[in-house]
Amino acid sequence: MGASNGKPPEGFHALAQKILHYSTSVVSRIDFLREITRMLLEFSECDAVELRVKKENECFRCEAMSPLELPPAVEISRRTFRDKNAWLASSHEWTCFEKICRAVAERRYTTPTPFFTRHGSFRTGDMEHAMPRLAALGLAGAKDSFRPGGDYRSLTVIPLTAGKETIGVLALKSKAVNRFDENETAAYENLAQTVGLALASQLAQVTLHERVKELTCLYSLAQLTERPHVTLEEIFQGIVELLPPAWQYPEITAARIILDGSTYSTPDFQKAVHVQSSDIVVDGVRRGAIEVMYGEERIELDEGPFLKEERSLIDTLARQITLLIQRRQADEDRAHLQEQLRHADRLATIGQLAAGVAHELNEPLASILGFAQLTEKCPDLPDQAARDIRRIVTTALHAREIVKKLMLFARQTPPRTMPVNLNEIVADALGLLESRCIENDIAVMQHLSRNLPEITADPSQLHQVLINLVVNAIQAMPDGGTLTIRTQAKRDWVVLAVQDTGVGMTQDVLRQLFIPFFTTKDIHEGTGLGLPVVHGIVTSHGGKIHIESAPGEGARFEIRFPVIDRLQDKDHHADHLVI
Ligand code: ADP
Ligand code: MG
Repeated sequence: MGASNGKPPEGFHALAQKILHYSTSVVSRIDFLREITRMLLEFSECDAVELRVKKENECFRCEAMSPLELPPAVEISRRTFRDKNAWLASSHEWTCFEKICRAVAERRYTTPTPFFTRHGSFRTGDMEHAMPRLAALGLAGAKDSFRPGGDYRSLTVIPLTAGKETIGVLALKSKAVNRFDENETAAYENLAQTVGLALASQLAQVTLHERVKELTCLYSLAQLTERPHVTLEEIFQGIVELLPPAWQYPEITAARIILDGSTYSTPDFQKAVHVQSSDIVVDGVRRGAIEVMYGEERIELDEGPFLKEERSLIDTLARQITLLIQRRQADEDRAHLQEQLRHADRLATIGQLAAGVAHELNEPLASILGFAQLTEKCPDLPDQAARDIRRIVTTALHAREIVKKLMLFARQTPPRTMPVNLNEIVADALGLLESRCIENDIAVMQHLSRNLPEITADPSQLHQVLINLVVNAIQAMPDGGTLTIRTQAKRDWVVLAVQDTGVGMTQDVLRQLFIPFFTTKDIHEGTGLGLPVVHGIVTSHGGKIHIESAPGEGARFEIRFPVIDRLQDKDHHADHLVI
């Protein structure tokens, strides 16, 4: 036998223990492979040690060469392997070395086949001389070099197993001839069992660790969202901070969430070398993304340098964010609806009250007006009395106007509906108010849609709506400005927008707009009934009002009426029932 360096069995024991011990530490798969390969090279004192290990559809190839200056190189190939042992090949061409590895992994030969031990390991002390016989076994072809796998003469290839499965091979290479004897090969075969076990347990360890990180992250997220009075912004910032510890290299990991144009990020999100991201999609619309990035190069894994566990975690988090947004939206909608109901309730009560009062006042007012007008006609009235009576008449007329508006607001006058083109109403109303606009130095812009569908409505009530909105706009621009009126068809709605460049409104005013008698104007200028009337008319037409305004920024009133009218539908139903 050749020059064995005759390691004592204690040496093998100590190494086995060291490897097992190391497998319980949490490091990445790659660092683990590197370290094991390094240990084996150091211990065996040969020229190179190579480990080929598979994990599902990946093959890790780690080779350490003497003298070891840099960490051993690791290569990962990932593909769907055509046959069971295809992972052992680093390309589609099988080299002689790889054919040997494959024969070992498959336990194709055992003693008495030359070169193979009874455990299926391969061993030769002189590759060069072995070539013809390897060719006879189909393990070397004409194209293969004398020293496959590098400039080595001695080669030992041992299977690595976990349970019954072969998970890899261990190759010891030496430039010396007859480097390993039978005993030493047997000792390495023993050691290989430990290496196989360590690899399997380390994999389980890493998987478990990833799972624990994932659960910790999700648990912290749950805690975060359950905190009382926490805002969505605080939650997003919290999530971003939970991310780095859940990724493989926390020290170079930064994270951010971009959502509806806002960004939440860890302080160090700058130069990203690798990014893993997941879209945040709410109700089919992409609203943003959650991103994790590495600031430095890291070795390729499942998805770039990221693990598939990390992919699943980032996707889960994106889905959680979607759920959070949806839940918040539902809460807000509910609150908004409640507020609307309260508002409608209040308006209805006030409306009933107003209608009653208006009714009661109508009679006496008619008498006052009638008698005043009669008295006015008396001949020989003293001047003073004539002037006073004129005042009574004007005031009574004003009062009657208010009563009329009150009744309109309370919807005492039922709408008389017919097909109406909103553009015509706009033209009518503007015709009436044109001179007031010119007087007040207001430019009028009209953008009227040419093919506006007709709506079913009461034209005189729509007229009221326009007059009220335009008068308000004029009053809001005492120093002139621009009044823009726009009509537009939007799906099943016809939209009317009245916009001014006037004084605008505070939130406080906006909140009270539809409350009868709410006005910020002088007693002669406003009654505070304009918008409540608008509101009454619009809702009785099945429409909606939307207002945008801020102090100093003008106001925009958008009103939409349904094209398919509900009033008409109701009538149809009534007819149908009568028949
Ligand atoms: P009135 O015009 O009689 O005051 P309204 O119900 O029409 O009553 O309007 C209520 C209040 O809403 C107004 O007093 C005013 O403060 C505010 N407002 C309405 N329209 C506008 C507008 N275009 N720009 C600014 N403020 C407005
Ligand atoms: Mg008004």
